[in-house]
Amino acid sequence: MLGLMQNRQLLISTMIEHAQKQYGDIEIVSRTNEGPIHRYTYKDCAGRSKQLAKALTKLGVIVGDRIGTMAFNGFRHMELYFGISGMGAVCHTVNPRLSADNVAYIVNHAEDKYFFVDLPFVPLLENVESRLNSVEGVVIMTDKAHMPDTKLKNVICYEELIQSENDDYVWPDFDENTASALCYTSGTTGNPKGVLYSHRSATLHAFSALSGEGLSFSHKDTILLVVPMFHVNAWGIPYASAMCGAKLVLPGACLDGRSVHELIEKESVTVSAGVPTVWMMLLKYIKDAHKTFSTMRRTIIGGAAVPRSMIETFKKEYNVQVLHAWGMTETSPVGTACHLKRKHEGMLDDDFFALSAKQGPPVFGVEMKIVSATGEELPWDGKTCGRLLVRGPWITSGYFRGEGGEAIDAEGWFDTGDISTIDEDGYMQVTDRAKDVVKSGGEWISSIDMENQTVGLPGIVEAAVIAVPHPKWQERPLVIAVKQPGATVTKEDVIDHLSKSMAKWQLPDDVVFVDELPHGATGKLLKNVLRTKFRDHQLV
Ligand code: AMP
Repeated sequence: MLGLMQNRQLLISTMIEHAQKQYGDIEIVSRTNEGPIHRYTYKDCAGRSKQLAKALTKLGVIVGDRIGTMAFNGFRHMELYFGISGMGAVCHTVNPRLSADNVAYIVNHAEDKYFFVDLPFVPLLENVESRLNSVEGVVIMTDKAHMPDTKLKNVICYEELIQSENDDYVWPDFDENTASALCYTSGTTGNPKGVLYSHRSATLHAFSALSGEGLSFSHKDTILLVVPMFHVNAWGIPYASAMCGAKLVLPGACLDGRSVHELIEKESVTVSAGVPTVWMMLLKYIKDAHKTFSTMRRTIIGGAAVPRSMIETFKKEYNVQVLHAWGMTETSPVGTACHLKRKHEGMLDDDFFALSAKQGPPVFGVEMKIVSATGEELPWDGKTCGRLLVRGPWITSGYFRGEGGEAIDAEGWFDTGDISTIDEDGYMQVTDRAKDVVKSGGEWISSIDMENQTVGLPGIVEAAVIAVPHPKWQERPLVIAVKQPGATVTKEDVIDHLSKSMAKWQLPDDVVFVDELPHGATGKLLKNVLRTKFRDHQLV
């Protein structure tokens, strides 16, 4: 017997419609490429998204067409999120930090029909334009006064495009399984793979993000969205904010400590979201400039493991609680959020920080398990490591156009490529990417764990641990670290520090200091670059 409830479709347009009606006066604040801070409301955003949808229809865009975007976090990007998906087309966000070859590959693979580009990325697009096969026109995301001199063909000015339309538009109704957005994974080998989200997956994921055990947002929040809108739908936060009417602050291109802190204070931000590298810069600035946070009490950090020392600094020195979350492009992305459970109330500091550094329990809707190399399920004892598999309604079922191989097994499990433990309480902890773990004499050494411990040593800013070939043990760990300017930390200091928490056989064979570490397009450490550079490093 089927239930008798209405089968209203879960559509992205309903989120902005809701925001317009219920939170029409709430602000969206953006730092713009043109210079000034721009502020308007959800009502304005909703109206302009409709103008955009009308303009796109006039350009011949139909349901299912892919529309590329290459832009920072700003109000026009919000309008693209709602306008493109709302009309039934697919909002394909392209990461501007990718190589020109990758950008050309991705845009051609997606067959983007139109391409929206922020001012700073016009030169990048000019460089690849001759290689783009499907793009019929490029919309530059600015007003007439700021239109650049460009050699791009078929150029349209964003403000002129939408100003030629009014907002008298009714969002179309269609199947919630219709594709809404497309993001390519920035893998280190092979071609990027397309992850195609649906209105249904995006809505369920946003509900989950809102929930108390998810990212826990409400209309009382002012959210600083540092995580880029060109990466995994900015963790679904643009959707979730519209659903709950949170004030949204979009930092544009300026992610240095001073600019981020200035926005946090001026806009009375209560919660922020981003990857650890941005918070590293922020914490350094705050310390050097003797600043504090007046209103920010929470920060959501994910995309890479958060070192325990960062969680401690935020809490002890600035009274800001870190929520550690894990996810990936293929998981929309939120898979876990490290909230404490009832049994942890009153936990002592040491245990609290150790637990908070885990990636945490899965949010409702995501199932997870760890398996051995031969696929047997492994115990949840907090010690046994295995490949992390996940499944759920916002986990990918396959890559766009089937390229990138089978994504899931017969039971729907997706292999994340992460190596993890899960403890008795269901808290997952990533110990490594499968390809980064150091395999020493049949034992595994977690590079993430060693990195996190190393940055806990005063004087160290950042650290990477890679496996270096070894004649006897197959592989041994090498620490590559960046010191704070003027710090006098030595190799012996690092090894001494690590020996307090690690077994002798796990300790690194060598520590080298460098001026900076290489990062990829989404801020993650590029360990393959380090592996190539240090392939012949002589361990001492
Ligand atoms: P991407 O698809 O580019 O977002 O990368 C996803 C990968 O980032 C995951 O498979 C993890 O290896 C890593 N990752 C994301 N969040 C975390 C986290 N909180 N801790 C450790 N690794 C993470």
